[in-house]
Amino acid sequence: MAKERAGTMVAATTNRHKIAEITAIAGLFGYDVLSREAAGVPDFEVEENGGTFEENSLIKARAIFDWLGGSAATVADDSGLAVDALGGAPGVYSARFAGQKEPGDFAAGTDGDAADFAAADRDDEQLHRSRQDRANNAKLVRLLADVPYEKRTARFVSVITCLRPGAEPIVCRGEVEGHIGFSEAGSGGFGYDPLFIPLGYGKSFGVFAPEGKNAISHRGRALEKLAAKLAAGTI
Ligand code: IMP
Repeated sequence: MAKERAGTMVAATTNRHKIAEITAIAGLFGYDVLSREAAGVPDFEVEENGGTFEENSLIKARAIFDWLGGSAATVADDSGLAVDALGGAPGVYSARFAGQKEPGDFAAGTDGDAADFAAADRDDEQLHRSRQDRANNAKLVRLLADVPYEKRTARFVSVITCLRPGAEPIVCRGEVEGHIGFSEAGSGGFGYDPLFIPLGYGKSFGVFAPEGKNAISHRGRALEKLAAKLAAGTI
């Protein structure tokens, strides 16, 4: 007999790495996740002009929920890396760090292929993302070159927003503390994973198996809170 499922949610992201993580984690809590494509939502860009993870997460969830006419539960993740030695940067600008200005004056695109990826790769979003990731990591390694390990503290943050028909929004934040390595290690995960060494593990997320990362990650923790709130049924 099929196991009873708790419900279905449409993921607002087009980042296939995030979709894979959200699908795997939400699946553990009994939820099925539909990609935007599978839900029939076209690939329009949502302008993330909020100043916080919470604002951007709500903007993304709202855009997809509204496109669906408010008919289906929608889940959005806004996430990023906050590095203490950089005053919390790149923060909400994590995805566009290398194409962005330096802390302080922030002049665009000094990291090789970061400079003009936009036009050439716009067609291939995933390729564009992986080039961005490489440039972001190169920039982070360069900016922290003289910072000793004990001062390379950082955290990943994920804010998950869930909008449901006729119900209050649910917003959950998950964080994982760690250090930024001196060079990339591992090819797992995405984004800053090869540089992020979670506290107490001595190896980067790039070296973790997907289930290992999901069990302790910012996204895993935020989704765990969401599942608990949905299960409690109080909001
Ligand atoms: P967003 O799509 O605007 O939320 O951008 C999130 C960005 O933060 C990504 O492009 C990555 O650079 C970074 N990021 C968020 N979560 C992770 C993660 O789990 N691993 C590595 N990088 C992440």
